[in-house]
Formats: sequence, structure tokens, C-alpha cells
Amino acid sequence: MSNIAAKEQDYHVNGKDAFEVIIIGSGPAGYTAGVYTSRAKLRTLIISGTLPGGQLMTTSEVENYPGFPNGIFGPELMMNMRQQAERFGTVIVDDEVIRVDFSKRPFVITTHSENYEADSVLICTGASPRKLGIEGEQQFAGRGVSYCATCDGPFFKGEDIVVVGGGDTALEEATFLTKFGKSVKIIHRRDSLRGSKILQEKAFENPKIQFLWNSVVADITGDKKIGTVVIKDINNGKQQKIATGGLFVAIGHEPNTAIFRGQLEMDDKGYIILTSQTKTSVEGVFAAGDVHDYRYRQAVTAAGFGCMAALDVEKWLTERTHRN
Ligand code: NAP
Repeated sequence: MSNIAAKEQDYHVNGKDAFEVIIIGSGPAGYTAGVYTSRAKLRTLIISGTLPGGQLMTTSEVENYPGFPNGIFGPELMMNMRQQAERFGTVIVDDEVIRVDFSKRPFVITTHSENYEADSVLICTGASPRKLGIEGEQQFAGRGVSYCATCDGPFFKGEDIVVVGGGDTALEEATFLTKFGKSVKIIHRRDSLRGSKILQEKAFENPKIQFLWNSVVADITGDKKIGTVVIKDINNGKQQKIATGGLFVAIGHEPNTAIFRGQLEMDDKGYIILTSQTKTSVEGVFAAGDVHDYRYRQAVTAAGFGCMAALDVEKWLTERTHRN
């Protein structure tokens, strides 16, 4: 019997998988929550999802996670977090949740292979950066194409950089990237920006930033890493090639909340709304990380939210036990 199967059997009560908390998602929020809940002796299951470890599994070096003065590779950081959660007894299954039922307790969580029941659920499914969906994007991801300037900016010292998008993120990231790059071109599909006035002014005033309006990236080419992007003017169809060492895609994120639709309160973009602390609109269901936080979106903030949610879950379960 595998370790996981043995642990799962320990938790088998009356023919049911009786977890006190099920954490859906395995980024920094999910694993951190697992460390805290299992260390607090709560029977904890993490269902890791399709990409165990989350967004950091697709990044290279992480230089801004505290505690690693020389940086650490994203996948290594996530493996460490996973092992730390397992050390305290968290059960982790690498499966994808396809359905949840939050209409009554215990909550039922259905994966491709199992139905699980739990007294409380912590949603840590994160968000995914919106993709351009063009030729070369996938091929050069992590080799010049990035979705996070805060994470990767310092790797682009002295490069000519291209940023796509016209919202706050694009403007903020472009401004940040001027610290490292020789030049930054913002490619925006319209002739006016969506981002806030103050960030617009900052970008307009920055001598290193140039705007290409009514334009989209049509193609990305290169050899081992990105070399050129093809920019298309959407009004006249004219194309131009721009040499670049880095392309930052900043066209928004999509929270991974499709399976919770109709069961929890969400905003118009699909981010989970927290009613107080880390609580969602359903009692006993909590959320942590990028799935509700579209503002900070850092590994360390997600881990922080995971910790907060775990403490809230523990308190909620304790209060319930005393009430019953
Ligand atoms: P966003 O506000 O949704 O802006 C996305 C931008 O990308 C828009 O300009 C949009 O163009 C463009 N876009 C979308 N799909 C595209 C595509 N397929 N091809 C080309 N361009 C595309 O997203 P965000 O900038 O990430 O911001 C998300 C939220 O976080 C916002 O509420 C924002 O205010 C907030 N935020 C705040 C701060 C801050 O206050 N410091 C910093 C970052 C983010 P259109 O304009 O034509 O739709």
C-alpha cells in the first residue's frame, strides 16, 4: 500500500473519507495552508490540480521569496513546500476537482477518480495569466516570454523589452521594467489606455517608455530564446519587426473558479468575494491567494493568505465543535 493510500485509510471513517479540511489547489497558498492545518492536527487533504505546485512550476529562478538569499528555482521551492506539508501529515492527491457541492455539510468534492467529504474547504486554485494565443508564445515561455515583471524583470538587464496590454498591470510593469531594460515598448490594441490616470502619467513621463497604439503582437520568433516580435497595426494591417530580448504579456489574469460558479459569490471577473477575513459567502468554505487577490499576486502574499485562511479554518472548526 502506498504511503498516501495508508494515510487515506487512517482517515477512513464509516466508509467515508472524513477530512476536516480539504484544500483545493497546490500553489504557495495551498501548501502553506496544509502546513498549518496538519500541524494543528486537522485531518487535511490537498487536491493538487492539473499543475501540482501551480504557477511557480513554470518559472525559473525566484529571487524575491524571503529566506533564500541566493534565489531558488520555482519548482524546487514548491517541492519543498509540498514536503513540508506532508511532513505534518497532509495527504496530497494529484488529481483534478471536477465538481463541488457546497449546498450542505459535509461538503462533497468530486475529482476524476473519487468523491471526498470534508467539514471545511479551503479554495486555493489561483489564477492563470491570460495568454495572447499566438504562434511562438508557448515555445518561448520562460525563454524571453514572461507573465510577471516582478518575478522576472531583473533577468532582462540591458534588453529592449516589449510589454503587451493597456491596463494598470501593463503600465506598472512597464515602469518597473525601465529599471532593467534599455527600452520598453508598450503595445496596446486601442488608442487609449484602461489603466489609472496616475500610472498613465508615470508611463508617459518616463523617457525609456514608448507606446505603439492600435497594435497587437502577431508573431514571436527567435532561436534558443526570443529574438523578434512582429507587431501588426490593426487599422491598416501593416506589420513591423521589432528586435527584443523580452516580451511581457500583461493582459490580465483569469481566476480558476469555473467549478465554483453558482455556489459562491464572485465578482464580475470571477474572483471569489471574501465576506470577512478569508471566509467566502458559504459558511465553512474559505479562500486564499490569487483566487481572490488580483492586486498583489506574489508567491509570498499567497503563502501569507494560505496561513491566514488555515488559522481561520482551525478557529471555525473549533468553534463549531464547541457549539455542537
Ligand atoms: P485589465 O485591467 O483587465 O487590463 C487588461 C489589458 O489588456 C487591457 O488594456 C486590455 O485591452 C488588454 N487585453 C486584454 N486581452 C487582450 C488581448 N487578447 N490582446 C491584447 N490586449 C489585451 O488587467 P490588469 O491590468 O491585469 O488589472 C487587473 C486588475 O488589477 C484591475 O482592476 C487593475 O486596476 C488592478 N491593478 C491595480 C494596480 C494598482 O493599482 N497599482 C496594479 C495592477 C493591477 P482593452 O483595454 O482594449 O480591453
